[in-house]
Amino acid sequence: MNWEKIIKGIHREVDPILGKGAVASYIPALASANPKSFALVLTTLDGAVYKSGDADTPFSAQSISKLFMLTLALEALGGRLWKRVGREPSGNAFNSISQLEYECGIPRNPFINAGALAVTDAVISSAGDRGALDDMLTLVRTASGSSRVRIDPEVAQSEREWGHRNISLGHFMKSFGVIDNDVDQVLNTYFCQCALEMTATELSRAGLYLANGGQDPINGAKITRPGRAIRINALMMTCGHYDMSGDFAFRVGLPGKSGVGGGILCIIPGIGSLCAWSPPLNEAGNSLAGTRALELFARRTGMNVFRN
Ligand code: GLN
Repeated sequence: MNWEKIIKGIHREVDPILGKGAVASYIPALASANPKSFALVLTTLDGAVYKSGDADTPFSAQSISKLFMLTLALEALGGRLWKRVGREPSGNAFNSISQLEYECGIPRNPFINAGALAVTDAVISSAGDRGALDDMLTLVRTASGSSRVRIDPEVAQSEREWGHRNISLGHFMKSFGVIDNDVDQVLNTYFCQCALEMTATELSRAGLYLANGGQDPINGAKITRPGRAIRINALMMTCGHYDMSGDFAFRVGLPGKSGVGGGILCIIPGIGSLCAWSPPLNEAGNSLAGTRALELFARRTGMNVFRN
């Protein structure tokens, strides 16, 4: 397969739609993103990298960080994690609060904001609040092979200042006894994890462990067990794009996780990992051109987990 040609061809094809959609505006640090930025990067299990566009420009990973915290929470709690968070698509917006009331404060899945708060709480219980963030950074630096990856302090501060919805989610869950630790500690860690800053090249590389049974194929690091990597992929497929997870599975057919910074990390089990980035979002908060690029990739290459 001529990956290089395919990646460059997709970039050319999505060029006319770059800028369509709306850049996340709930915090100033995201609102100032260039709507025309675009990157598409594929890293295969042998470490080869194929890229096009702004592949080495750092951006805010936002909800893609939920993947890495989930990996840590499963390492810490194993199956006990599922007592605090479900595994069902929510069919609701990523920051929705309504289902929590009817479901005793237990969030539907680890990838909506409420679920991520439960996951972060679980990691804090085992590692402490500084420890949770440090462990996430260590995991991401190991998996991406890049020590440059950081938490952007300006974005973290904005998340804190404008985090009214997340703050209410945290306190609401605490009222049901679903959050064990100090709720402000959990929220602070969550705001910092959202501010994870990486390039598309680094994110694409960081997804390899999920394409390779939990083990980094390049440096050999055992990040999680094979069975857990499979489960994380299943959750990405069913819940990784909020109330458009069904649409993403239909159009792309690969496990993917989006963030409001415009990034999408997509796993091709046994082959590699792909990151698309374009800041303007569709109505569900997923990258509009990024989704289209991944759809074209899956179609051109036949990479789709539902194909034999
Ligand atoms: N920081 C965002 C929030 O908490 C993350 C959401 C996302 O990327 N979808 O609302």
